[in-house]
Amino acid sequence: MSKSDGGLRRLHGRGACLQGKIVIAGPCSVESEQQVMETALKLGKLGVSALRGGIWKPRTRPGSFQGVGEIGLPWLKAAGRAAKLPVACEVAYPAHVDACLTHGIDILWIGARTTVNPFSVQALADRLRGVDLPVMVKNPVNPDLELWLGAIERLHRAGVTKIIAVHRGFSTARQTIYRNEPIWRIPLELRRRMPHVPLICDPSHMGGTRELLKPISQEALDLLYDGLMIEVHPRPEKAQSDASQQITPKRLRSLLAGLILKKENTLVRDYISHIAALRKEVDGLDHQLLDCLGQRMEIVRQMSHCKEKYGVSSFQPHRWSDIVRDRTRYGSAHALDQDFVMEIFDHIHEEAIRLQERETDVIPPEPVTHKHIRRPHRIVAAAERR
Ligand code: PEP
Ligand code: MN
Repeated sequence: MSKSDGGLRRLHGRGACLQGKIVIAGPCSVESEQQVMETALKLGKLGVSALRGGIWKPRTRPGSFQGVGEIGLPWLKAAGRAAKLPVACEVAYPAHVDACLTHGIDILWIGARTTVNPFSVQALADRLRGVDLPVMVKNPVNPDLELWLGAIERLHRAGVTKIIAVHRGFSTARQTIYRNEPIWRIPLELRRRMPHVPLICDPSHMGGTRELLKPISQEALDLLYDGLMIEVHPRPEKAQSDASQQITPKRLRSLLAGLILKKENTLVRDYISHIAALRKEVDGLDHQLLDCLGQRMEIVRQMSHCKEKYGVSSFQPHRWSDIVRDRTRYGSAHALDQDFVMEIFDHIHEEAIRLQERETDVIPPEPVTHKHIRRPHRIVAAAERR
């Protein structure tokens, strides 16, 4: 997989509206011949890289609009031809791939509800063997990096070389402003593990509202994403799916114009020396943090022997409550976000308990599952935060 693959280079170079980044735009669903043609012509003038349009729509509840089906594929293709844009469509079954190939669809994508299912992804990968089209892989609905990586690997093993990862956010139990929470560390880890797979962001499904499109897109660009996929409809409020997040082509133009592109690096001498000095300070502080953590865990070992001697449990709910209260307050006084502080102390406490149990042989020396167990102290911590 290489960023310079022919098909992908074609996409990269085309996004004239965002300095060469990939911009895939178009309606959530293809609804009519006229709707997709009108959208395509306006997007073509704007200089996007490709036109998207859902033909088979995965809807949460039955009874809502399921997409127009195969009849819409020639509409999508004709719109793309008229606007001189490659066209992209979601596929969930091998039969969808057959239909897309019949109608000359240029790019395929695997939706979030399909990426979660290795059976479905494998069936698609098998069908795509020998098919030379770019395939976009949306992140799975749930925040599971391995599933996302696994789907990309299945395609790669089937010989698909032009793969793009699409970050559209994750469904979580937390109440947030997003329709799908970004959890940026997951796509960033994907990029670290698969640096040659272009990564683009879908702020439409992530935000779920028009207002969030710009801040999310800017954040993605600040993180050096390779592009964006944005839902565009000529009359968004009348759209048959995802009406609240779609925007007009005109609004897309001003959205893209307002985004700021930053470079990964610069050779300006002042920058290089200033940043090097700051990084040196950060390196030193990180080492101090690790020194402190090492010392803390050494004391934890001593505590475990003390508790063992007096038959006291390693987990102490009241002590943990006190720690939560004190550390979040102390962190706030140093302008540190409470959730951030809690996240760190969740990990520290989990490790402390694991060490104590190992020290006193409650658990075997090489536990492999502790990270997956929701330990009681985590439940207490979650309650404390509320
Ligand atoms: C879509 O792109 O229209 C779609 C259904 O997206 P997702 O799979 O991200 O929900
Ligand atoms: Mn949609």
